[in-house]
Amino acid sequence: MSRIATRFAPSPTGRLHLGHACSAIRAHDFARRAGGGFLLRIEDIDGTRSREEHVAGIIEDLAWLGLAWDGAVARQSQRLALYDDALDRLRSVGLLYRCACTRADIAASLSAPHGPEGAPYPGTCRVRDIDPALPHCWRIDMAKAVAIAGPLDWHDATAGIVNADPLSHGDVVLARKDAPASYHLAVTVDDAAQGVTDVVRGDDLFASTHVHRLLQALLGLPTPRYHHHPLLTGPDGRRLAKRDGAPTLADLRGDGADGGAVADDLRAGRLPVGFGRQRA
Ligand code: GLU
Repeated sequence: MSRIATRFAPSPTGRLHLGHACSAIRAHDFARRAGGGFLLRIEDIDGTRSREEHVAGIIEDLAWLGLAWDGAVARQSQRLALYDDALDRLRSVGLLYRCACTRADIAASLSAPHGPEGAPYPGTCRVRDIDPALPHCWRIDMAKAVAIAGPLDWHDATAGIVNADPLSHGDVVLARKDAPASYHLAVTVDDAAQGVTDVVRGDDLFASTHVHRLLQALLGLPTPRYHHHPLLTGPDGRRLAKRDGAPTLADLRGDGADGGAVADDLRAGRLPVGFGRQRA
C-alpha cells in the first residue's frame, strides 16, 4: 500500500477563514496520525482572481495554526504543461469540443420553458463548428465520456460507496476561456501526480467528485479515498463565510488569538472563544 498522503489545496482569492482552517487541520491530522505526508497546493490557475499577497497570507496562516507541510509548495500556475497534456489526450479521443457561448447565451437558452438555476450546459456548441479564433472554452461531451468509461464508483469515508453520476453535471468546462484548465481538470491531474491517497475536503466539493471520478477513469489515474467533512457553521447554524462577517484567521490573529489554541478548538469541534463578534 502506498504511503498515505493528503493535501490542502486553497485558492488564493482571499485570506483563509475558519472553514479553511478546519479542512487543513483535518487533512493534516489524518496524514500525521497515519505517519503519512501532508502537502500544500496553491490552486492559482485563475489569474484574474488569484493574488500573490493571498499566497503569502495562506502560508502565514497555516504556520500560525501550527501546521507544517512536506516538501515545496505546489503551484498550479507552474503545472500547466500537465493539464495541457491531459487535455490533449481527451481531445485526441474526441471527447472535448470548443464552446463560444457567453454566460448570457447560456442563460438565454436555459430560460423558458425550464431553466433551473445551476442547470447543466444545454450543449449548444456540441453540434456547432466554432471558429478557433473566437474566444472559447473546452467542454467535455459528457454522454460520450460516460459511455466510454462505463459505471464508476468511489469510496467516501462518510457516504460509503458512491455511484458516480457525472452526467448530472452535463458538459462541464475543462479548459476555461480565461484559464488554461478548469478546477475539475487541474485537481484531478494534481491529486494523481502528487500521489494523494486521501482527499480530505468540505462537503461543498462532494458533488464535484462525480466529475473527478470520471476524469480519473478517462485518464487512467488512480482514485483516492475521499473524506468529505461537514462545513463549519456559526452559532446560527449558517455556514461560516467571509460575506457573513465571519473573521478571517488574520483577523483573529490581529485580535491577539493564539493559533495553536484556535486549531485545538477546531479539533474539539468548538468555535474559537471570542468568535461571536461580527464584523462589517
Ligand atoms: N481550491 C479549492 C477551494 O479552495 C479546493 C480544492 C479541493 O480541495 O479539491 O475551494
